[in-house]
Amino acid sequence: MSVQKSSASAFHVFLIKPSKYDDEGYVMRHWRGVLPSNTLACLLGLTEDVRRRGLLGAVDFRVHTFDEAVEKLPLGRIAKLNRRKGERVVVCLVGVQSNQFCRASDIALELRREGVPVLIGGFHVSGVLAMFPGVSPEIQELLDAGVSVVAGEVEHRWAGLLRDAYEGKLKPIYTFLNDLPDLSDAPRPLINRSYLRKFVASNFGTIDCSRGCPFNCSFCTIINVQGRKARYRSPECIVQTLRQNYLEHGVHFHFFTDDDFARNPTWEAVFDRLIKLREEEGVPVKFMIQVDTLSYKIPRFVEKATRAGCSNVFIGMESINPRNLKDAGKTQNHTKEYRDLIEAWHAVKVSTHVGYIIGFPQDTEESVQEDVVELMSEVRPQRASFFMMAPLPGSKDHKAMVEAGTKLDPDLNTYDSFHESLPHPLMKNGAWTRTYKKAWRTFYSFDNMKEILSKADPKNYWDILRNFYWYKNSALNEGTHPMIAGFFPLKDRTTRRPGFTREGRLAHAGRRIPEIYRYCRDAIRLTLEMEELWLQTRRRSETERRVVEELARMRTELHRNLRMSELQTAFARARARIPSLEVPSRLSLAREKFSVREVSRLRETRRDLETYWNGFYGRLRQGRLWALLRVDRISLNVLREIRLAIGFFIALSAGPRYGTQGS
Ligand code: SF4
Repeated sequence: MSVQKSSASAFHVFLIKPSKYDDEGYVMRHWRGVLPSNTLACLLGLTEDVRRRGLLGAVDFRVHTFDEAVEKLPLGRIAKLNRRKGERVVVCLVGVQSNQFCRASDIALELRREGVPVLIGGFHVSGVLAMFPGVSPEIQELLDAGVSVVAGEVEHRWAGLLRDAYEGKLKPIYTFLNDLPDLSDAPRPLINRSYLRKFVASNFGTIDCSRGCPFNCSFCTIINVQGRKARYRSPECIVQTLRQNYLEHGVHFHFFTDDDFARNPTWEAVFDRLIKLREEEGVPVKFMIQVDTLSYKIPRFVEKATRAGCSNVFIGMESINPRNLKDAGKTQNHTKEYRDLIEAWHAVKVSTHVGYIIGFPQDTEESVQEDVVELMSEVRPQRASFFMMAPLPGSKDHKAMVEAGTKLDPDLNTYDSFHESLPHPLMKNGAWTRTYKKAWRTFYSFDNMKEILSKADPKNYWDILRNFYWYKNSALNEGTHPMIAGFFPLKDRTTRRPGFTREGRLAHAGRRIPEIYRYCRDAIRLTLEMEELWLQTRRRSETERRVVEELARMRTELHRNLRMSELQTAFARARARIPSLEVPSRLSLAREKFSVREVSRLRETRRDLETYWNGFYGRLRQGRLWALLRVDRISLNVLREIRLAIGFFIALSAGPRYGTQGS
């Protein structure tokens, strides 16, 4: 279809994924993100398809993508562009979830004040329109301001929407909920290299192989927005996407964002083609999938998944309490089979990650803590993500609560799974939040992380350790959620939520300096904890193991026969094979009555360093300034810290990334 020729020199399509506000009213943004947005990739693919096929006629398309979680939005420049004669602009706020709706709404209203055409889509609008006959007040406010809302999926409709925008004929509401698109020939999500560079792992791509889920959980929005019948991309499209992403962009790890890949009717065809891609073409693709708790019982599923390159699975476990699962309609989950499920995946060297909800109506502080301990000791997944139950618009629970007049938090910004957004019947006065935080602390305790890493298959070791770093940093240091957090939070002084005061430069510096100090202090503490974890769990090479055994054998000889010079020679030899091995001086050998345990101590723990620093600070606090005079010991220990940190970071970054082989 063509569009009447226009004098416009360019049509600018801005695809924007909004972030959300933090508790202080600042937009949540990070220096580096962790999870790229699949919705942005899908919309980029759709827009490029419209441009490439000339579906709008001879229009000079300019496509711009922004993810506010990792970049600042150029709202002023967009408004200026819109005012420029001959230029046309449309801003599409994509994939907006309920917790992002407040921020998205503020962006939309600001742009509308400047006359910019704005579309807003995603799970909030879709969820509300799917479950209620009319629109909710927050959506009505946008409609009143001239924003267009889009409910449902836009495959096969995107050209029509863009045409309406180009011709200045956008309708207030577009609803495609009753006519879910066929995905088999839909344009595929596209990689944007400069976007991926804003993430910790730039080799990380996403694709939704299918949408929809056959189950019926009452807290879930997927089924009411994307349907209960799976719709899927063709296996050939998936394989081509992965091949191309690897060959053209070096992206070899993908997150298949399907809410339940095990219920994708084409799973076997996808796996078979990926096995061919890996084993016959030598393209080393890897991926992670989300599956249900019955997935391990599907004949050949687990075995083919690992051959196809699956390195980890996210499992919607939600609770280990059968009563909670029954209440939520998640009757497909059988808690007695959880251990078998986890073992089945571990047996094929695929690492496991479970989703766990806290705040079911019958949960109490005590019952949740008992459940988390049981999860760790009996079920033993390698990672867990905890979520606070939220009444998400689009779910059966939300509809029932609205109809029952339950007092829900009117601020949608709190519907983010780490704030209380509804009153809990049994956990009151902060008990719910306390319980949630305790669950994170308990699962990611040093002892449990050590236990998990000690038993993990070597090929998953670094993925798991990096995840511990990310999860602990987000949930406990930053106080947010790993699914939306990244590394090093940034705050734009000039963009603050309406109702919060915009601070002057000095006041803002007064806020940020202590915040940055606390963040860095906690990050250093976490790094030291991870160093210790690595030292205590890392796999020794065969060479190193043999040297240490040899030293152990020498131990008895040592005390009886060996002279100090001979002992030092032995160390020097060992050091040639283990460059970072400490070689004690003659003096320290004599003084510390050297034993093998002490020799290898530095290679197994940093406890002696900690003892030294605790003593050092203790002496300083007591005003015993002579502690500072022991320059030789301070510099020795500083050097050891630096060497250990360098070793750790080299291992952390050189260790296999996202599912590649080796330890
Ligand atoms: S299994 Fe997962 S995606 Fe399916 S209905 Fe339940 S929560 Fe939703």
